[in-house]
Formats: sequence, structure tokens, C-alpha cells
Amino acid sequence: MIVAIDGPAGSGKSTVAHAIADRCGFTYLDTGAMYRCVTLACLERDVDVNDSDAVAELARDVRIEFGTDGQGQTVSLDGNDVTAAIRTPEVDRNVSIVSAVPAVREAMVILQRAVGERGDVVAEGRDIGTVVYPNAEVKIFLTADAEARAHRRAVQREGKDAAHDSAAKADAAQEQAILADIIRRDKLDSSRETAPLRAADDAHHIDSSNLGVDEVVDRICVLIDEARAAR
Ligand code: C5P
Repeated sequence: MIVAIDGPAGSGKSTVAHAIADRCGFTYLDTGAMYRCVTLACLERDVDVNDSDAVAELARDVRIEFGTDGQGQTVSLDGNDVTAAIRTPEVDRNVSIVSAVPAVREAMVILQRAVGERGDVVAEGRDIGTVVYPNAEVKIFLTADAEARAHRRAVQREGKDAAHDSAAKADAAQEQAILADIIRRDKLDSSRETAPLRAADDAHHIDSSNLGVDEVVDRICVLIDEARAAR
């Protein structure tokens, strides 16, 4: 079974998808991490992110692998662990330019579909239910208001977890900068021509602004059970 979770930056997709993977024994696929890897490769190799041909060539060339350690999922780029390096503000600033290149998306979608052929997968991104797995049995469009999303990301950057600690605070200036970045990124991701961020027609919409992780996960698990029963 494929569970597709799409939504804007910071809507809680990763936390929720991880929890579903744990609870249901599914493979977790973080497609955003893949676009982040291509972006990091551009920055490391001095490839201009606005040079679509060069970026596309690099996307076809990089080796992206997922693994796990005691802390959770790890990501490697050409054999080097980049789990932390793909989450910097510099990657945040450039990733939407890289991910808008159609040939980059083509290369990533091939890799993403290969994962889906291997068994039960919960995948999160922007185009999972619309493009990558249009036949996914469960599709979720997870949203939250921009302030709630910025707060979660800011808290996460400080090594805390807003999902499980509603009193967690982050530096206010940092939170404002993250808010500006996610508003800019959402705009770019929603307005690009190829595979824009949008809900699939058959997606279930969940607004997580005022919901805890467990509530969101419970709702999705009910949908998974219903989809299984309908087979
Ligand atoms: O989910 P995350 O914030 O890590 O994604 C980083 C960026 O990767 C997004 O802002 C978007 O530009 C791109 N992305 C995408 N399609 C996906 C997943 C992520 O374009 N399926």
C-alpha cells in the first residue's frame, strides 16, 4: 500500500509520516530530502542553481541513499552523510529553484517510484498524490497556518519538538526568518509549472494547526484501515 502525504513546508508531514511508518511497518520516503540533496550538491560543486541544464545533469549523477541510526533516518549523498547539511538556511533558500527544474523532478520521480515498487510506503512531499503515485490508496493533504508551521520549524532547529511539547519556545528573530522563508517557498512551490504543490482531487484534507501529532496519525490510520478493508 502507498500512503501519500503532501502539504506545504512545516505542516508536520515528516513527523506524521514517521509515526505512520513506525506504527504500520511501512517504509518512510522523504522526497523533500532528495531535492535538498541535489541542492546541496549544487552548492558544494559551485553549480549555479539558475543554470537548469547543469542542475539537471547533476541530478542525474548524484547518488542519494537513506539509512538509519540511533536518532532516526539518515541521508547520504555520494556516500557522505548529509542528514544535517541538507537542513541549513542556505539549502532552504535554494531548494525551490532546484526543484522547479523539470528534468530534476523526472530524475527524482524515477527513484521515488522504484521505492514504491518494493512494498508498503508512506511518502511525503508536494506532488506525491498528484504525480509520483497518482494511484496511492490513501492520499492526505496536510496543512497548517503559516505561523504554526514557522514555530514548529524554529523549535525543531533548536533541537526541541513542538509536536510533543506545546510550550517549547524558539528565538523570535529566527522564527520570523523561518516564517518569511516558508511563505516564499510555498509560493514558489505552488506556482511552478511542473508538479506544483497542490492537493490531489481525491486527497483527504487535514488541518494540523490545532491538532496534536497523535490525533493526525490516528485519523490517517483509520483511513489506512478503511482502504485495506475496501480491497
Ligand atoms: O519537505 P521539505 O521542506 O524538506 O522540501 C524541501 C523542498 O523540496 C520544497 O520546498 C520543494 O521545493 C521541494 N519538494 C518538491 N517536491 C516534493 C518534495 C519537496 O518540490 N515532492
